[in-house]
Amino acid sequence: MVDCLFCRIIAGEIPGAFVHKDDRLVAFKDVNPQAPMHVLVVPRRHIATLNDLSAEDDALLGEMTRVAGNIAKQHGHAERGYRTIFNCNAAAGQTVFHIHMHVLGGRSFAWPPG
Ligand code: 5GP
Ligand code: ZN
Repeated sequence: MVDCLFCRIIAGEIPGAFVHKDDRLVAFKDVNPQAPMHVLVVPRRHIATLNDLSAEDDALLGEMTRVAGNIAKQHGHAERGYRTIFNCNAAAGQTVFHIHMHVLGGRSFAWPPG
């Protein structure tokens, strides 16, 4: 059994501020928000990194993107704009090894990212 922070949040062992739950996905507020809206969209199934995806996960990733858009709409950020991010492995800044899509909104974002 992998000791995974996000698996524990999904299991209810650690509290999370959930904004979405369905059969395959949850979304909760990031504990250290980098924007007025900073939500993490997380599959219930443990997948460590984007490198571990298979073709069977294509629909799951599509759902994650659609749910992210719905959350941005619900928070009133869809029209102005919002950012979605996956960090994959250490050089990209991944610190929790259970895939998650960051959804950030409520401010402007620079490009290129740091
Ligand atoms: P990563 O760096 O892996 O792309 O993103 C991990 C994110 O998880 C970070 O933005 C971090 O603030 C967030 N995080 C870390 N621990 C917790 C926690 O216990 N609860 C919540 N809600 N977010 C967390
Ligand atoms: Zn996990």
